[in-house]
Amino acid sequence: MYTNKTTKRVTVGGVAIGGGAPVSIQSMLAVPAHDIAGNVASAKKLEEAGCEILRVSVPDRQAVKTLEALKGNTGIPIVADIHFDWRLAVLSAEAGADKIRINPGNIGDEQGVLEVVRICKQKNIPIRIGVNSGSLEKDILARFGAATPEALLESGKKHIKMLEKYDFSDIVLSLKSSDVQTMYNAYVLASETVEYPLHLGVTEAGTLSGGTLKSAAGIGGLLLRNIGDTVRISLTDDPVEEVLAAKRLLSAIGLRKGGVRFVSCPTCGRTEIDLIGIAKEAERRLAGLNKDITVAVMGCVVNGPGEAAAADIGIAGGKGCGVLFKKGKIIASNIPEDRLLEALISETEKM
Ligand code: SF4
Repeated sequence: MYTNKTTKRVTVGGVAIGGGAPVSIQSMLAVPAHDIAGNVASAKKLEEAGCEILRVSVPDRQAVKTLEALKGNTGIPIVADIHFDWRLAVLSAEAGADKIRINPGNIGDEQGVLEVVRICKQKNIPIRIGVNSGSLEKDILARFGAATPEALLESGKKHIKMLEKYDFSDIVLSLKSSDVQTMYNAYVLASETVEYPLHLGVTEAGTLSGGTLKSAAGIGGLLLRNIGDTVRISLTDDPVEEVLAAKRLLSAIGLRKGGVRFVSCPTCGRTEIDLIGIAKEAERRLAGLNKDITVAVMGCVVNGPGEAAAADIGIAGGKGCGVLFKKGKIIASNIPEDRLLEALISETEKM
């Protein structure tokens, strides 16, 4: 299942966005911009975790060196995140950035934007117009009274027009807000009138659990309506968690095949093993396994294998022990509780 076929397609360092391409997963480096080794190490981890496009802040000229090192030492497409100074966008493009993200609210005058267009055309790289509710242009804020969905779209459209005026159409648009309903409605409006691919995100979403939930509601709700071409789940946590959360979200709504789908029961009075601990650890250890299977961790033998009949493999607990089952049929029983997890992992890896 793929996303919106009606948007234009752009390419970021070999990764297609829009026009029916699979929804891609993005994240952003969180290491201080001048720590070259730290950023490269983090980028490698993110690439390994499944990040497909990676953004790096370029707050000054020295940070361009970090971008250069990322390009030289990783295979992941790199997006330069630029605020305030269009010159940094030009330097980043010259240093090999695969896309430039500019914030219309603070990138400066049109002349600066023109310079960014010029270098992006020359390097054949796209620009993301990254509208953010926290930094809308003052005139738009005054006109709409607040950072409403309409105001976010107005800012995006204004900058699309500016780029189109200079014959530039290699554009991705994002309309982020920390308010789920605002971002949701802004993207719905955009999908009705904008032909460019949409980068979805809830900004300042929060910590792992709350932020993932907000993103699942906002981003997931849009994707279910076939709106959106690339996503970033932004979390106050290790960026690897952003990538894992995005992978889980795409897999949960059927936009991504491959990778383990994990199901586990909520536990109840029948549970007699540490199901929560086993389930958490199983999900963590199987997260990176590239197999298109469903794995179940269930609380009791009485109902577990039946309730998880659709699972390819699973375990179900008994009194201090458990069983291993495949497609609803028990294949090993009386496995001591402390060996259940290992039994599940090793059998899953063999599949
Ligand atoms: S599988 Fe068993 S333990 Fe889990 S919720 Fe169902 S009945 Fe309860």
